[in-house]
Amino acid sequence: MTKTYFDYDEHDFMRGPYPLTSARIDRLSEQTFGVYVLADDGPNHRNHRLTVYIGRGYIKTRLLRHEEGVNAPRYFSFVEIDSLDPHEANEEAFRIECALFHKYGKARYLNNRIHPARPKGRTDLPLCAESGCTGEAY
Ligand SMILES: [Zn+2]
Repeated sequence: MTKTYFDYDEHDFMRGPYPLTSARIDRLSEQTFGVYVLADDGPNHRNHRLTVYIGRGYIKTRLLRHEEGVNAPRYFSFVEIDSLDPHEANEEAFRIECALFHKYGKARYLNNRIHPARPKGRTDLPLCAESGCTGEAY
């Protein structure tokens, strides 16, 4: 079954899209922590991109893993969460990841199989940063 994806939107708060190549990924620092969006070419025309995946974590490590995969998408965008407090950085990344996961149609319209998880050990946070969601994938 072929998936339907939402169109990729440029986000003012994110950098990219860049080609998802090892050469471009290598320019990132190992310490870059944040949220990323993976996009692919649309089937019909140039400059039409589709959003296929939302992720968070140490971006370089995560992107290299995606780049090695079969049918790797062609583009990535990211936002670095540059907080000195790891507690705050994790919470902010979770909030942004949830917002993007919802914006692009959740697991039904993304290659993500599950809803973004709360930061480890943060049972004080809701299961989703979006109101009305209890962490379901669809
Ligand atoms: Zn949610």
